[in-house]
Amino acid sequence: MLRFEFDDVRLTVLPTGSLRLDGGAMFGVVPKPLWEREHKADDRNRILLAMNVLLVEDGDRKILIDTGAGEKWDAKERDIFALETSPAEDWLKPAGLTPPDIDMVVCSHLHFDHAGGNTVRKNGSDAVAAFPNAVYVMQQGELELARSGNERTRASYMAENYEPLLSDKQVRLVNGDTALTRCIRLRLAPGHTPHMQVPLVRAGGGTFAYLADLVPTASHVRAPYIMGYDLEPLATLATKKALLAEAARNDWRLVFEHDPVLPVGRLVEEKGRLKAAAVEPE
Ligand SMILES: [Zn+2]
Repeated sequence: MLRFEFDDVRLTVLPTGSLRLDGGAMFGVVPKPLWEREHKADDRNRILLAMNVLLVEDGDRKILIDTGAGEKWDAKERDIFALETSPAEDWLKPAGLTPPDIDMVVCSHLHFDHAGGNTVRKNGSDAVAAFPNAVYVMQQGELELARSGNERTRASYMAENYEPLLSDKQVRLVNGDTALTRCIRLRLAPGHTPHMQVPLVRAGGGTFAYLADLVPTASHVRAPYIMGYDLEPLATLATKKALLAEAARNDWRLVFEHDPVLPVGRLVEEKGRLKAAAVEPE
C-alpha cells in the first residue's frame, strides 16, 4: 500500500491482485527481445501484471477508481490468466475501510481486469454490487460498446460486471470530459477503447493521473509501446503523446494500474526521451 497524504485529500494505491497476459499482446509491435528486458515471460509467454486501484479520500467522501478483476472466476479462467485475487474486504483492510464505506466507484473502462470487482456473487446468488452504497461512474459510450460487443471486443467484457448495477439504478453515466467532484476530473482518453477515461485528481497543489490502460505499465511510457488489445492504436498514440507531454510540463504523478514494480511515477527526461521514475510518499 502506497499512501500520499495532503491537507485536502488522501490518496492510497491498493494492490487488488495480479494476473498474467500474453507478453506479445501487451506490447503490440514491439519485438520480444526488447520488452523482455523489463518483463520476463513465463513458459506460456505471459507476463506478470498488477491490478492497482486508487482510493481517494476527500473529507467524508471515499472514492475508488477501478476495482480489479474481482472474485467471480472459475478454476479454468483462473488458470488461463494466472489470476490471484482476494475479496475487497481484504484489500481495503490496510486502508481501514470496508466495502460499504465506499460511496463512489469510478470505472476507467469496463474490461474485466478493471471492473470485475464491481460486483460479487454471495452464496451462489446472481452478481450484486460489491460496494452497496456506491454510485458507479462510467462513460456512456463505454457502456454501449460493452453491451454491443462484436467478435473483436467481446472477450474483454462480462455483463455481470455492470448489468446488475444498471438494474439497481446505481450508475451515473457521463459523456466525455467531466468535473466529477471537488478534486476529480474525468478526461476522455480514446485509444484502448474509444471511451476509456483517465481520472485526474487534484491533491496538494499537484495532479495525480490514473492512466488505466492508456499507459498500463511504466514501460508503456515509450510512444510505440501500445498494446495489441487496443481497439484504436493510433488514437492511443495521439492521446498518450498529448497527455504525457502535459504530465511532463506539470510534473504530474502517474499511477500505473498494471505495473507490478512501479505503481506511481513521474516523468523524467533521459537522452531526450521521457521515462518514468518511481515516486514514494514524502
Ligand atoms: Zn482494458
